[in-house]
Amino acid sequence: MSVNQQAHTGPPYGQPQPGYQGYQQPAYGGQSLPGVPQAQYGAYNGPMPGYQQPVPPQGYFPSLGFPSKGSPVSLNSDTSSLAPNFIGSLRAPPTSGAPPPASGASHPSGHLAYSQFEHGDVQNGIPASAAPMQRPPASQPFLPGSAPTPVSQISTFQQYGPPPASVQQLRNHMAGMTIGSTAASAPPPAGLGYASVPAVSGSFSATGSGLHTPYSTSQGPPLTSVSEGLPLAQPPFPGQTISTQRLPTQVPGFTPPPPSTGVGPSSYPPTTGAPRPPAMPGPPLPGQTVAGPPSSQPNHVSSPPPPSTMAGLHPGPPMSGLQGPPPPTHPPQPGYQMQQNGSFGQMRGPQPNYGGAYPGAPNYGSPPGPPPPPKRLDPDSIPSPIQVIEDDRNNRGSEPFVTGVRGQVPPLVTTNFLVKDQGNASPRYIRCTSYNIPCTSDMAKQSQVPLAAVIKPLAALPPEETLPYLVDHGESGPVRCNRCKAYMCPFMQFIEGGRRFQCCFCSCVTEVPPHYFQHLDHTGKRVDFYDRPELSLGSYEFLATVDYCKNNKFPSPPAFIFMIDVSYNAVKSGLVRLICEELKSLLDYLPREGNMEESAIRVGFVTYNKVLHFYNVKSSLAQPQMMVVSDVADMFVPLLDGFLVNVNESRTVIASLLDQIPEMFADTRETETVFAPVIQAGLEALKAAECAGKLFIFHTSLPIAEAPGKLKNRDDRKLINTDKEKTLFQPQTSFYNNLAKDCVAQGCCVDLFLFPNQYLDVATLGVVPYQTGGSIYKYAYFQLETDQYRFLNDLRRDVQKEVGFDAVMRVRTSTGIRATDFFGAFYMSNTTDVEMAGLDCDKTITVEFKHDDKLSEDSGALLQCALLYTSCAGQRRLRIHNLSLNCCTQLADLYRNCETDTLINYLAKYAYRGVLSSPVKTVRDALINQCAQILACYRKNCASPSSAGQLILPECMKLLPVYLNCVLKSDVLQPGPEVTTDDRAYIRQLVTSMDVAETNVFFYPRLLPLTKADVDSDSLPAAIRNSEERLSKGDIYLLENGLNIFVWVGVNVQQGLIQNLFGVSSFSQISNALSTLPVLENPFSKKVRSIVDMLQGQRSRYMKLIIVKQEDKLEMLFKHFLVEDKSLSGGASYVDFLCHMHKEIRQLLS
Ligand SMILES: [Zn+2]
Repeated sequence: MSVNQQAHTGPPYGQPQPGYQGYQQPAYGGQSLPGVPQAQYGAYNGPMPGYQQPVPPQGYFPSLGFPSKGSPVSLNSDTSSLAPNFIGSLRAPPTSGAPPPASGASHPSGHLAYSQFEHGDVQNGIPASAAPMQRPPASQPFLPGSAPTPVSQISTFQQYGPPPASVQQLRNHMAGMTIGSTAASAPPPAGLGYASVPAVSGSFSATGSGLHTPYSTSQGPPLTSVSEGLPLAQPPFPGQTISTQRLPTQVPGFTPPPPSTGVGPSSYPPTTGAPRPPAMPGPPLPGQTVAGPPSSQPNHVSSPPPPSTMAGLHPGPPMSGLQGPPPPTHPPQPGYQMQQNGSFGQMRGPQPNYGGAYPGAPNYGSPPGPPPPPKRLDPDSIPSPIQVIEDDRNNRGSEPFVTGVRGQVPPLVTTNFLVKDQGNASPRYIRCTSYNIPCTSDMAKQSQVPLAAVIKPLAALPPEETLPYLVDHGESGPVRCNRCKAYMCPFMQFIEGGRRFQCCFCSCVTEVPPHYFQHLDHTGKRVDFYDRPELSLGSYEFLATVDYCKNNKFPSPPAFIFMIDVSYNAVKSGLVRLICEELKSLLDYLPREGNMEESAIRVGFVTYNKVLHFYNVKSSLAQPQMMVVSDVADMFVPLLDGFLVNVNESRTVIASLLDQIPEMFADTRETETVFAPVIQAGLEALKAAECAGKLFIFHTSLPIAEAPGKLKNRDDRKLINTDKEKTLFQPQTSFYNNLAKDCVAQGCCVDLFLFPNQYLDVATLGVVPYQTGGSIYKYAYFQLETDQYRFLNDLRRDVQKEVGFDAVMRVRTSTGIRATDFFGAFYMSNTTDVEMAGLDCDKTITVEFKHDDKLSEDSGALLQCALLYTSCAGQRRLRIHNLSLNCCTQLADLYRNCETDTLINYLAKYAYRGVLSSPVKTVRDALINQCAQILACYRKNCASPSSAGQLILPECMKLLPVYLNCVLKSDVLQPGPEVTTDDRAYIRQLVTSMDVAETNVFFYPRLLPLTKADVDSDSLPAAIRNSEERLSKGDIYLLENGLNIFVWVGVNVQQGLIQNLFGVSSFSQISNALSTLPVLENPFSKKVRSIVDMLQGQRSRYMKLIIVKQEDKLEMLFKHFLVEDKSLSGGASYVDFLCHMHKEIRQLLS
């Protein structure tokens, strides 16, 4: 292939870490498309060119093309001893006689496996049976012998509606939970005294038994022993204290204040004006602050933050504005219909007494009694997400995160930090729920902390960081363990003077191939350690040999096929014209390998309604030719030559076609569409061209035309909160599952852009995109003026972004644990290999691990994620990520090294898959139960003895309750009236592929006071907590969750600010039809627009901008995202939920 391949004779890349500096990451050929932030796309394209700059290209061939069979030259190849194999051995012809590893088996030759999807295949997404909920909701396997079966446990939850044996006793419990309560004056309905009510809650004062009943686990499995005997006869909650700690030494962040005059053993001051607890001198802010780097200060205990760390959250006068009285609540407006609200679909307008429609939902609209007095747990005294985020930024944002040490907990995803790879994969690629794993499965079960890794194999990196180097071992391919096939990595031990190496995963000893031999230094380290990425770095790539290719043939470059719905709605809305206009320029920005002059990707075009139109755009034609296929029952591609073409060669013909399409269908009256035949057509075209690729389908309606995959409207909101609710998330036919299998086998990834004006069954249409690793975008009630910018940004990014094709991922682990479960957009035909027709830089796979043996503290635990994929230029590559974790025999070490954001990512995905097979309520109960057990285990085993009334949270998990509550009240698990069935299916699928940063902001949105922004600095204003009481009528706020940006304007905002931001003279003149902020030449406008742009640049999708005026009808939608408050759909407030979790934990401990 390339004469400068001297992989084995010289240092492939010159220097150790410092030498990597100056490595450049070219954007796609240096071109940039207006409106598209290049930094996000440029990050990938090609390790090679940049890394040829600092060092001579020895050992790294420059990727001028993908290698052709037989051409690689290897000086010392010894393929017989190397036995290259696929990462998923399914893909490989049998090459070595090595015994199959524990985690895999020998397989027949790869090309067979590619098309063989047997019965009983594990399918991600749409479970054939109860498989996805194999782990029972109540986590039964974790308490062997002591826990009831999941079924019985569930039934106990459901029975719990009536008060338990003693109502009085329960009331005592509840009263104890109510901090500062004078509940005696307003006795709540049975068992609900703990519902402390936010100030806005006049209309839903008593929460009603529906709200918290599901949470109860009073009859749940008791733990076998009680840590600190809590005499229940005593006042059960002698002062509720919330404390978080990193160590068993319990030092509450708050000590109970003196008993107040209120009822209850003790109570917190109801307002911030009351005396502060003694342990909380200083600012009246969320208390439990880590003053130092968490991981390095094991003895650290909660203490007030130093003033300097409080910069973001001034508690004093600046803050007072945020804590003004909440605005009056306004009656819902039943008649209102929102035209466009993005992913949240049609807003039907809240209905009075809405809750009554749901069995078990609270009756917010009709309080059964008089509103109770406004007493409550002080929200400032409970753990604050904002404070935790701020503290981590202050403590860990300044130093690079160096990955050389095993088991280090990385900074939070909300902290900006640089990563230096010194042997472990960057947290941008892999994050774990815990970086210290229990040595035994018994410990793991006891803690109930899920062991999971969130892996983003092709993650984009900031420009300052180095992309994985591409290592070329020539014809012999990468060096691997003979037995388990793990790839050479920094943890392999070289022995016998370097002639053999012992596998860090399975301990098998393998001969070092002669060409790979190198002497060891006095420490046993190879002398070329720093010259080889695979010996010194956590992440790198290998060039794959032909053995890693389908059918033992190097792949062709992939193709993109654009498939445009030209039915009446699509044409009338202007969508067809918009897409065609955009494609004219966008086709010049197809992904390409860094140093290639033009993209290797070929393109094709199809339009469709009830029939399909194929276009011949061969460069030799004067005009494009259309071929109509009306027999959609048996789809075929009517032309081969001229369908997939090079953009440059066919430029004029393509331009002509894109000009003509809108005209050709301008007068169409066809309203019906097909869908499955469209995918089949794209699939057949890729098959005929013998390549992988991606279909971009632009679709508007439920496919009701007579054709395979025809669907009917089966939307039925009455199923919500019934046992049949799960059917809303399941596809209505298995046809699409089978189609998805065929697509995966061909490497045909489907990206779907939906423009619905009504229900179009996202749960079914999404099956193929989901299982092929594709993306779904939804623009409900698409209108050209307001939505085109968002759509075009998404399309540009989607077309240009880094993507691999025909991918298969396997995660290997060291002895003792193994990957047992996978979450994400992919397909699995066996239990180990995650297959994706396409995998882009935004897609994440969450992997769960279970013990199968004991681990040791000495050796720790290792993960190796290997992704085999075809690059956009058709080059077959392996990307390897390694991560080493610590192991512990003390539970406290586990709790000290957890990452709650990752835990929530896992729990959300687990729950969102659960709704496919279990009632939503069961899923919610299981989540609560598991988290209660996690926290109870900590209290029992790690916290020092303390008052039973104290809620003690581990420092690393002190946000678990608030974040868990956000998951529980999310649209999938507890839909509000404005959320459509399609919205829920859409969000369910989106979340399943999200990384940790995305789930973090999705579940707990970022709320920024724009009027506090410093117009002279680049920084963002300090975020505030997501509660209405934090909003001031005199300010303007921005809220973002990764899908939407809301700009909320208080009724008392100064006229000058309104003029500066919106260009109108008064509040009443602000139009909430704006989809962008007007461009005005003043500092405030510039600052706000720059903030919006910055946020847009951080997210993988272009967020919809929605202007919300206080007291306006749209405010209902906005309040949905104030996740610390009670939600319309019945979701508990943070304060209430924390009290509830406390009760759950106490019950587990008693
Ligand atoms: Zn091995």
